[in-house]
Amino acid sequence: MSNKSGNILVVDDSSINRKLLAAILSLQGYNISEAADGREALDKADIDLTDLILLDVNMPEMSGYDVCAELKQNLNTKDIPVIFVTALESLWDRIEGFSVGGVDYIHKPFENIEVLARVDTHVQLRQLQKQLHLRAQSLELQNAILQNEICDRFGVDLEFYKDLEAACLRQEFKLYYQPIVNFNTGRILGFEALVRWIHPIDGIIAPDRFIPFAENTGLINPIGEWVLKEAIRQLGIWKKMFPTGDYLSVSVNVSANQLLNNSLVGFAQRALLENNVSCHQLKLEITESVLVNDPDATVEILQEFKNLGIELYIDDFGTGYSSLSRLYDFPVDVLKIDRSFIKKGKWAIVKAIVQIAAAMDKEIIVEGVETLEELTALKNMSCCQGQGYYFSKPVDDLTATRMINNDLQGSLLIN
Ligand code: C2E
Ligand code: CA
Ligand code: CA
Repeated sequence: MSNKSGNILVVDDSSINRKLLAAILSLQGYNISEAADGREALDKADIDLTDLILLDVNMPEMSGYDVCAELKQNLNTKDIPVIFVTALESLWDRIEGFSVGGVDYIHKPFENIEVLARVDTHVQLRQLQKQLHLRAQSLELQNAILQNEICDRFGVDLEFYKDLEAACLRQEFKLYYQPIVNFNTGRILGFEALVRWIHPIDGIIAPDRFIPFAENTGLINPIGEWVLKEAIRQLGIWKKMFPTGDYLSVSVNVSANQLLNNSLVGFAQRALLENNVSCHQLKLEITESVLVNDPDATVEILQEFKNLGIELYIDDFGTGYSSLSRLYDFPVDVLKIDRSFIKKGKWAIVKAIVQIAAAMDKEIIVEGVETLEELTALKNMSCCQGQGYYFSKPVDDLTATRMINNDLQGSLLIN
C-alpha cells in the first residue's frame, strides 16, 4: 500500500464501478466514502472533509452535472474539485461538464494508471489550495496583530481610528456657524464654520476631541473636504435665500497637512462653481504653525487660493512663533487674535498685534469676545470685528439662517 492521504467521495449508481474505484484508490492510502446517487452525494460532501469527488455522469434522478452544479452553489462544497467519470465521449458533454464546474474527466472503462494520475494531481492541488487558504488566514491574523502593535507604539487608538474612519464614510458630521460681527454696526459680516462629529452613540463630539487625531492619522483629508464642500453648499443656499446678503462670508478652518494636499485648490474651485458661489465669499483659516513649518511649499498653495480671490486668515495669531518678516511675505489678509489674549486680558499684546497688522496692511478679527467690558476695551484699541459668546455661540444652520434673516431686517444680535 502506498501512503497517499486525502478523502475521496466516489459517486456512481453502479455498485461494481464504485467498489472498483474504491479498491484502486484505497490501495494507495486514500480514504474512500461512497454514494449511490446524487442526493446521497450532496449530503456526504457537505458533512465529510472531502478533498475530491469522482462523479458518475449518467445516474437516475439526478445527473452528475446537476449534482456538480449544486455542489458549486453550496459554500461548504463549492471548492471541492469534481472529476466526472463517464462513458460519454462527445465534445458537448465535456463542455457541459466543465461549464458546471468540473475540473477533469475519466473515461469508462478506465485504466487504473490514468485514474490514479488524475486523482493524485487534483488531490495535491486541493491540499495546496487548503494550505494557501490557511496561510492567508494566518497572515490576516498577523496583520491585525501588527496593526494593533503599530497603533500602540505610536499611541494611536485603533478603535477610535476605525470609528472616525467609518464616520468619514457615512459623513457623520455637521457644521456649526459662529457669526463674525462688525463691532461698530452690530451687523453680521459672516460666519466661521466649525465642525462637529455627530456620533451615533456618543452624540455631538467637539472638534478638539477628534481634529488633532485626524491630523495625525491623515483622516483630516476626507473630513476637511467634507467641511469645505458643506460650507460652500450652505453659502449657495444662503445666496439663493438672501440675494441682498451676497457679501456674507463663511470661513473654513484648514489644517496644515490638508493644505499640502495638492488637489485642495481645484476641489474648492469646483465646489464654488457648482454652487454658484463667488470666491470672495469663502475664506480659509490657517494656523500660524503653517507658516513656521513648511513655508515654501505652503506659500505656493496659498498664492493659488489668493489668485482665485479666496482670502486667507491666520488663525490663533500670537500663539505660534512665525517671524514677522515671513508673515510679511505671506499672502494673508486677516490676523485672527487668539481668544487666550482676550480671556487673560492681555491688552498690551492685543495692542501690539493691532499695530503690527496696521503696519502690514492686514485686517484684524478678534476671537472669544465674551463680555461687554472686553468688547469696549477692544473697540478702544480700534478692533472692529470679531466673534465670541457675547454675540453668539456657534449655532446650527437653521439658527444661523434665522440670524441672517433678522440681521437683514435690521434686528441685531446685540444692541
Ligand atoms: P478655532 O478655529 O480657534 O475656533 C474657535 C473656537 O473657539 C470654537 O471652538 C468656538 O466654539 C470657540 N469660541 C468661540 N467664541 C468663544 C468664546 O467667546 N469663548 C470661548 N471660550 N470659546 C469660544 P470649537 O468649535 O470647539 O473648535 C475648536 C477648534 O477646532 C477650532 O478652533 C479649530 O482649530 C478646530 N476646528 C473646528 N472646526 C474645524 C474644521 O472644520 N477643520 C479644522 N481643520 N479644524 C477645525
Ligand atoms: Ca478658526
Ligand atoms: Ca482660534
